[in-house]
Amino acid sequence: MTKFKINEAMARLEVEVPLYRVPVVDLIAVQTRDPYKVLVAAMLSARTKDEVTAPAAARLFAKAPNLQSLAALSKVKLAGIIYPVGFFRAKAGYLSRLPGVLAEEFAGQIPATVEELIRLPGVGRKTANLVVAVAFEQPAICVDTHVHRIINIWGYVQTTTPLATEMALRANLPGQYWRRINSLLVAFGQEICRPIAPHCDRCPLGDLCPRLGVKPRKPPSNDLTAVEPPKTGHHPPQSPEIPRLPSPTNKDGQTKRIKLVSWNVNGLRAIAKKGFNRIVHELDADLLALQEIKAHPEQLPIEIRKLPGYTAFWLPAKRKGYSGVATYSRKDPLRVMYGMARDEHDQEGRVLTLEFADFYLVNAYLPNAQPELIRLPYKLDFCRHFLEFTHRLAKNKNVVICGDLNVAHRAIDLARPKENEKSPGFSQEERAWMDQFLATGFIDTFRMFNQAGDNYTWWSYRGGARKRNIGWRIDYFCIDTAGRSRVQAANIRPEITGSDHCPVELIMV
Ligand code: SF4
Repeated sequence: MTKFKINEAMARLEVEVPLYRVPVVDLIAVQTRDPYKVLVAAMLSARTKDEVTAPAAARLFAKAPNLQSLAALSKVKLAGIIYPVGFFRAKAGYLSRLPGVLAEEFAGQIPATVEELIRLPGVGRKTANLVVAVAFEQPAICVDTHVHRIINIWGYVQTTTPLATEMALRANLPGQYWRRINSLLVAFGQEICRPIAPHCDRCPLGDLCPRLGVKPRKPPSNDLTAVEPPKTGHHPPQSPEIPRLPSPTNKDGQTKRIKLVSWNVNGLRAIAKKGFNRIVHELDADLLALQEIKAHPEQLPIEIRKLPGYTAFWLPAKRKGYSGVATYSRKDPLRVMYGMARDEHDQEGRVLTLEFADFYLVNAYLPNAQPELIRLPYKLDFCRHFLEFTHRLAKNKNVVICGDLNVAHRAIDLARPKENEKSPGFSQEERAWMDQFLATGFIDTFRMFNQAGDNYTWWSYRGGARKRNIGWRIDYFCIDTAGRSRVQAANIRPEITGSDHCPVELIMV
């Protein structure tokens, strides 16, 4: 075991990896929460690229959404459905035997331990560990080929087989990383630390990694994303240069991904002087929803009113210099809804909805309850109408709700929950509304992927709160429960400054 800084590496990857493609088995886990689907996807993914596994799993789950329907498919039929995954004939055989073995030995349930799972046909330690970690959220270390390879490149272990790596990690890896290490290193191994010619020139771990046995790629001279490996302990995302993201609008197999960004800018005129256009260019969003613009469009410089490649839609507050929302879109919407058809609320410029063929984007800036909660009755009335409004929309098609909801949902969503129990944004009444909002059909997408604290989107300007990360998570991307499977990633971008809030983003299909 060497002195490789595992804590620092894992912390950096937790920030970095959500920007990459999510491994298909993790994605299926967060989208379905179904151990059957996670097990089957994990079986299909063995020795198969995610680009092949994902459509094969989708085809199979369309025909066999559960064990009962799987049992009705013959081995030949299964082989035809899952082709061209690696070893498709053998896997079809395992899948056709799976329902019978589960019925006989496990009362028709997917077992939750590695020892039981490896008794199933075609399930090895890697698949079993993956199912335990991802589907049952229990401590387990899955060692995919990427994990075995990268952890040896780091010199964190010196092993020759995945099994030896698993055992070495069980003995040495801090428990908080067991479940995550596979997901992080698979995505990292596919995107940056590739098996052949890894991209050391743009690696966030460049200053930590001893690169044992590695022959890095020669960066192409026109690769604008390449950065020099940092010479100090600084992590690239902390630098003022914002790393360029892979375009979400690239073809992903047959699937087109879109990227949505939401940001409370705390005054468009103010942020215009702080590099707003450069940041927007770097964010590369298909839809950009802004809150608290504090301006009418005619008060804004032309370069803000008309961003190249976007059409802008505005809902300023009647009162000048206050509240207001705006949405920039690369694609023309079918329809735009200004407000919720409630005069008493709409004059504050808080809800702007763009309708597209297959979803609505609701850009929302919910009221602040104000000190002493003096505006709490107004806020609760607003929230009641907002809930009705969004539920009405969800009857037609998927609804994505983004913006500053001005409430931290749970204690984990702010740095000082005890001291703020009666503060605006964390009062019992506001949290109860958020409970109701999430219980009645919407999902907080960030929490689909991340259950950790210390993830905030707003920091007070006072007392160096942002530097010390004394913040609140009050900016969200939510989606109706029927849209869960469209979500690919949800991120917070705390490194982007210019406002007392940072942007949040959603990648969806
Ligand atoms: S520096 Fe190179 S070898 Fe090391 S983790 Fe990064 S990409 Fe892999």
